[in-house]
Amino acid sequence: MLGYFDVFPERCETELRTAYFPDGDDQTFPAGMYVFTEYYCSDLSCDCQRLLVKVLHNPSPESVPEEVATISYTWNESPDESWEFVISDVSNPFLDPFHRQAGYANELMDFWYHMVRHDHRYAERLKKHYAELRRFHGQSSEPVVHEEIPWPSVDAVIVDRKLRSRALHQLRKKELRKKRRESRRRK
Ligand SMILES: [Zn+2]
Repeated sequence: MLGYFDVFPERCETELRTAYFPDGDDQTFPAGMYVFTEYYCSDLSCDCQRLLVKVLHNPSPESVPEEVATISYTWNESPDESWEFVISDVSNPFLDPFHRQAGYANELMDFWYHMVRHDHRYAERLKKHYAELRRFHGQSSEPVVHEEIPWPSVDAVIVDRKLRSRALHQLRKKELRKKRRESRRRK
């Protein structure tokens, strides 16, 4: 996965989606600025049309942005085999279990998905970014290992898609087991 705004930093000014939540009583999310960064698959042998949205929260202009959610989404109706394996029992979009997710990550994902469905220009822009990134930085052989600083990405470790699918699957099973154990303990 390649960061669109790492490759085209000048577009941060005009094409990076942000949302600001002011202080208030009835608050689903902590107040502040939310930045929705975009990472796309640059492997030209794959047409997953997949996007990772890493959401950063910035409580105030002076604070260091913190990663609060990573959303995985595809607008492709017929994903290839390796992704089918992953998303057959997962919703689209879903929270990537490899990344840090805040307690309100689910609500944040709903907020983002609402934007995608209702803001036609935004949805189209995401597709345009995918095409653009691949046109200029697509890899036809091994995908580039992309180091994200300062938010380490799992993609930097697992570059093989099948391996990643399997790992995702294992992780979900592990989490499920953990949840079951916890609910048993409560009884
Ligand atoms: Zn792909």
